[in-house]
Formats: sequence, structure tokens, C-alpha cells
Amino acid sequence: MTSLQAIDIFLETDGKIIVFSDLDGSLLDHDTYDWQPARPALEALKHRDIPLVLVSSKTLAELEEYSQQLDLQCPVVAENGAVTHFPVDYFPATTTLSTATLTRAQLQTLYEEVKLARSFKCKAFYELGVSGIVRETGLTERQAARANEREASEPILWLDSDDRAVQFEKEMMARGLRCIMGGRFLHLMGATDKGAAVRLLMNAYSSKWPDKILMSVSLGDGPNDLSMLASTDIAVVIPGKHKHRMTLSTRNRVLKPPSPGPVGWNEAVLQILAKH
Ligand SMILES: [Mg+2]
Repeated sequence: MTSLQAIDIFLETDGKIIVFSDLDGSLLDHDTYDWQPARPALEALKHRDIPLVLVSSKTLAELEEYSQQLDLQCPVVAENGAVTHFPVDYFPATTTLSTATLTRAQLQTLYEEVKLARSFKCKAFYELGVSGIVRETGLTERQAARANEREASEPILWLDSDDRAVQFEKEMMARGLRCIMGGRFLHLMGATDKGAAVRLLMNAYSSKWPDKILMSVSLGDGPNDLSMLASTDIAVVIPGKHKHRMTLSTRNRVLKPPSPGPVGWNEAVLQILAKH
């Protein structure tokens, strides 16, 4: 079954679409962080009252800023799934969305232990400091400070070989941690991911709209999006600026817009909504 046939069948029912999206390289341009090319699709989502949940490696402070810019009153998933936040009274009072994880301080202790023991060449956000983050990301100082307001993950600038990165990941996994490759950084975090957060949120949406049939759509460009893309009914793989393979099982209905960033995002969302 193609994705669009699936949408036709879904729309014969009284369904509700929920959209989950990555930011960097997906809704935001990889280099300029611009989202304007996606404006038509964003307006179409708003017009149809379809929730857009931002799911990012960014911090809650950064996502709150984007939620404001995009005029969204929806849940957000920060730090690659380690932190989920939703507006007051958005979900029924009984909703719990905890993804048990480690604090940033605990992650830093384990990171230092492994880095020292094996002399890995890398620099974590807390080692770079705000000025280093500015240098490596092109963010302004204020943006970099917000990017460093982390609760439960630590981005790491990898300066060693790819083989050594695999070794590093193994060492971290042996300690119950996860390393997820984002667009620019390797993200160290506890045993959770974007997919786990999306599945929890879909359960919460089921209790918010118990009489509706829900259809989930996700959009992402990087390997850190794979767990999210695999967790939704429709997966939109935005062409990414990285060398990692984006392999999804055929269980998902996959759309692959030809254009990267917000241009591809806009095309894919409008294509899905054209069936609405
Ligand atoms: Mg991305």
C-alpha cells in the first residue's frame, strides 16, 4: 500500500493527524536555521487544527523560543527525547510522560571517566563553554547560552576517528548510556530516544481524543530521527547533509521529498494535507 492510499483510507474515518517534526535540517535550514519556506504548510496545519510537536536535540529553552516564533501551543520534545513538556491542561490530568533518564551531571561524570581512560579526542558542550559553542555552531551568544541549558543530555563535538567513535559508543553503552548522532554533534544521554517520547505522546493523544482514530506523521533528516520515523504511521525522510544511511523498515509508509530542509518539509506536508 502506498502512503497516499493509506491516507485516503484514513480520511474516510473521523481521523485526527498529529505531526511530529525534527528542527535542524528538517523544518529549519541546516545552515541558516530559516523556516520561512515551510510557511504555507505551517499555515495549512494551523488552519486544520493539526498539532505540530517539535522533537529535537535542542533544549526546552530553545524549543520554547521556536514555539513562540511558529505560534504553536503544542507539546515539545527536547534533548532527543530525554525531556518532554506540554501546555497546562493540554492532556487529561492523569497523563504521565516520564522518560526515566540520567541527569546531565551524571552523564558528565561518566563521560569524563571514559574520555580520560581511553584518551578520546572530543569536546563536550560544557567543555566548549558558550564561546566555544558559538564558534562551532554559528549561533549567537544568547542562542548558545540557551543551547547549553540542558537537563538530561550532553552534546559532544567529535574530533577523533570514526572507528574510535564506535569504540566510544560501546564504552558508553556498557554504562547504560546512549550515543546518538545528530547533525553536528554526538549526543550522550540516558536510555531513551525520540521514538520513545513520540510513542508516549501518542498514548497521551489517545486519552485526549478517545473517540478519534489517530494518524501520526513524522519528519526528520538525521540518524537521531530514525526511532521517531519508525514510530509513526507515515515517515517523511528529508534529504540530510550527512553520510549516514537512513534505513527504515517497510512497515512504515515513507515519503521522500526531493528538496532538503524547510522546502522539502513544506512539499511533504502539503502533499499529505492535499488528501485531507
Ligand atoms: Mg536534524
